[in-house]
Amino acid sequence: MADYDVIVVGAGNAALSASVSARSAGAQRVLVLEKAPEEMRGGNTYYSGGLLRIAFEHTEEILRLVPKARELPGFVEGIEPYPTDAFWSDLRRMTDNRTDPELGEILISNSYATARWMAEQGIRFEPAISLGAVRVGNVIKWPKGAIVRAANEGVGLSRMWFAAAQKNGVEIRYGAAATRLLQTSQGSVCGVAVRDSTGIHEVRARAVVLGCGGFEANAAWRAQYLGRPWDHAKVRGTPHNQGDGLRMAFEIGAMPWGQWSGCHATPINAAAPPFGDRQLTDKTNRLSYLYGVMINKLGVRFVDEGEDQALFTYAKFGGIILNQPGGIAYQIFDSKVTNLLEPRYSTSQPVAADRLDDLVAQLDVDREAALRTLGDFNAAAGHGNFNPGERDGMTTRGLTLPKSNWAQKLDTPPFFAWPVTGGITFSFGGLKISNQAQVIGTGWEPIPGLYACGEMVGGIFHNNYPGGSGLMSGAVFGRIAGASAAQGG
Ligand SMILES: Cc1cc2nc3c(=O)[nH]c(=O)nc-3n(C[C@H](O)[C@H](O)[C@H](O)COP(=O)(O)OP(=O)(O)OC[C@H]3O[C@@H](n4cnc5c(N)ncnc54)[C@H](O)[C@@H]3O)c2cc1C
Repeated sequence: MADYDVIVVGAGNAALSASVSARSAGAQRVLVLEKAPEEMRGGNTYYSGGLLRIAFEHTEEILRLVPKARELPGFVEGIEPYPTDAFWSDLRRMTDNRTDPELGEILISNSYATARWMAEQGIRFEPAISLGAVRVGNVIKWPKGAIVRAANEGVGLSRMWFAAAQKNGVEIRYGAAATRLLQTSQGSVCGVAVRDSTGIHEVRARAVVLGCGGFEANAAWRAQYLGRPWDHAKVRGTPHNQGDGLRMAFEIGAMPWGQWSGCHATPINAAAPPFGDRQLTDKTNRLSYLYGVMINKLGVRFVDEGEDQALFTYAKFGGIILNQPGGIAYQIFDSKVTNLLEPRYSTSQPVAADRLDDLVAQLDVDREAALRTLGDFNAAAGHGNFNPGERDGMTTRGLTLPKSNWAQKLDTPPFFAWPVTGGITFSFGGLKISNQAQVIGTGWEPIPGLYACGEMVGGIFHNNYPGGSGLMSGAVFGRIAGASAAQGG
């Protein structure tokens, strides 16, 4: 007889969604295995901004998630509907149309219902004010679809999920790493080998859900799959996502799926620690580059900083920055826009000067080239009407590498520069799963008894990513995986 109905490996957003869903779907005995010690629990979810991308038709639907926000001045007026076809169009555009159509459809069509389900489980939400939203006059302009986050961000989300799991009678073991999947002689997954402080044990269950993250914290896997210079990348979140679940699944014949050479990586403070800091969480992010310019050590610009709103470019710009000489760039702003910088810029001191040449003299860049770049930029910028709340078409004129929106001149002292690098968030390559979150083997058949969710699912994100989709995907597929495991395990 099995020790448990369902074992869930991992304790982030996806895994804990799965554990609660499994209980609701009738599993009596559900065990969560968390490799991290209790004080480090919660995976990347803990470090996250808690932002959720949600498709909805009417403002009222959002207000059902954040009822108190009705009283927030300018909240309601700045909301624009984000129907499923708008989410689809963003997901296709971000992934160069490579997203898995079946998984994308499940993610998008379940996003709102899953947010409501989370609320029923005790997850509270709040307006995602400091993430991409800007106040224009009396109105808060929201990035479409990215309006709501978990109350108290990732720290709050993680705490609320643990509380929900405990309330539902889920057993949680900390410092307990799954090391191997157990199979019956017929090939069904029937448990896991677990390493804890007392040794290695086998724990049996009718089904296993893998929700134990990607391989972003594993330098060797980064070098192997993402190539240089990713082995040097700083990791924005947990040190515990080492690809264990992927390895265990491949050992029994699971199929790799999605973009194994791709990952989510963002511009972060160049002085950020090598792994996520539990006090700073996501506050090392530096995502207001769209209102300034970025130069590398050679003194040249290397991306169109104003290509789109930050939530549509930040996840790819981190990798581009990491690939600049020394993995470093500088974000330069003038004083016209400092009121628009996300509050998290205040977690590090910028370089400041009253003249651009004095600013550049303090940076580790080719000074002559940098001054030429900034001079050329200023000569090409300043055409049109600046509007921070949407793509304003204020583009540079005559530059080979344009800045397509928000191209104001850098002309108002003092000037500021924040040094940034690219920090990896999570890997895109994962497992192939069915619409019931069953793990598919290399023979194109489900592996009986094995389910996966969260970062472990491959195929949804390629090259880039629309902000707020990771947690939504984790909750959607976690909910499905838990129910499938309870019913079919
Ligand atoms: C700084 C930061 C900010 C972010 N902000 C956002 C945001 O605002 N919105 C958004 O949508 N996404 C955001 N993300 C991405 C998002 O956090 C992830 O996509 C999501 O949390 C992944 O959830 P998960 O449950 O799959 O993995 P995780 O939350 O990483 O959980 C994985 C779990 O597995 C455990 N584990 C690993 N190996 C084993 C093993 N062998 N045995 C047992 N347990 C194991 C880990 O300890 C951990 O508990 C952010 C990420 C970071 C790092």
